[in-house]
Amino acid sequence: MGDFASLNLGGHVGDDPHAVESNRTLVADAFGVGRDRLLFMNQRHGSNVVVVDGPWQGEPPEADALVTTSTDCALVVLVADCTPVLLVDQIAGVAAAVHAGRPGLMSGIVGRAIDAMTDLGARSISAAVGPSVCGRCYEVPEAMRAEAARVSPAAAAVSWQGTPAIDVAAGVVEQLRARSVAVQWIAGCSRESEELFSYRRRHRTGRCAGVVRLLDPHQEHDAHPEEEHQIRGQV
Ligand SMILES: [Zn+2]
Repeated sequence: MGDFASLNLGGHVGDDPHAVESNRTLVADAFGVGRDRLLFMNQRHGSNVVVVDGPWQGEPPEADALVTTSTDCALVVLVADCTPVLLVDQIAGVAAAVHAGRPGLMSGIVGRAIDAMTDLGARSISAAVGPSVCGRCYEVPEAMRAEAARVSPAAAAVSWQGTPAIDVAAGVVEQLRARSVAVQWIAGCSRESEELFSYRRRHRTGRCAGVVRLLDPHQEHDAHPEEEHQIRGQV
């Protein structure tokens, strides 16, 4: 409720742990996996990629990208302004969830995730890039914008006030396209939209999630060719 209304999926943000756990169980059910196979990561704004094919033994590892070839696992990235990226090669049977904030843009976390997927046989990858804080709402010092622009020219932006800013999602999309990934960019700014959790708008807040699960090619499925969904903050 309140700062966490509704469907907060982030632990360690001040919400009732039981409410978070019950939300996580709802998501696991929605994706048809056991709760222990709805896999979160300990996101650090680092560049660590972890390949996983079953429940964590103990605490989730420190990582900003998870990669799987298992059809029994759903991978989760939590965000409240950062860019959630879901990657899938349904033919090769490889999926990934990536947490891309400004440090992830700079360190090339999506490229590392693509490398890990390629090592597992991925050849034709599609991406869903979820809503995050937009370039106009992410004011930074000029030097920081220049640094980001060197890594990804599309990341250079101008704020609502006309000052230097960074568009992390635009930079991430540019990095994905440079690797021949087909990108679906879901519009929306977490800071401007009341429907999304935003740390910049309200520091005490919940977390939205991007969740991806591979379909089992041996099972019959309904309309969607690949099971890839965005779970928004308000549903
Ligand atoms: Zn915005």
